Amino acid sequence: MTEPNHLLENIKTAEEGRPNSLRAEEKELISEVKQIYRARIKVNCTACKYCLPCPAGVNIPRALSYLNDVSMLGNVKNASFQYGVLLSPEERAGNCIECGECEKVCPQKLSIRESLKEITELFEK
Ligand code: SF4
Ligand code: SF4
Repeated sequence: MTEPNHLLENIKTAEEGRPNSLRAEEKELISEVKQIYRARIKVNCTACKYCLPCPAGVNIPRALSYLNDVSMLGNVKNASFQYGVLLSPEERAGNCIECGECEKVCPQKLSIRESLKEITELFEK
């Protein structure tokens, strides 16, 4: 919300919302949108944080989330800006020493090291 009007619109929507008030076609639309978003997710990280702490200090789930931002929204510039501002230098993907400890414990069996290399290329070079 960037303008007072947006806030008023949201309050109105919240006031009118009732449990189970969505129509079948609205539920179907939500389901379709959900599928489209899911299909665009590049790394299926659930942010469970089992991979933390990383011995090199990489904030693995946060770093991966920016890769998903790029694949889902296609806005590299914005994701890059957020990556630079919201992740400290110590938490960034480029610090990975490729020990592989995170991949041993990741329940999603993600190729974390490969994704971190991609993130480094995208946001740190
Ligand atoms: S492979 Fe990289 S990200 Fe994973 S635990 Fe080792 S240093 Fe951390
Ligand atoms: S263990 Fe895997 S799924 Fe969980 S936060 Fe780390 S990378 Fe994501």
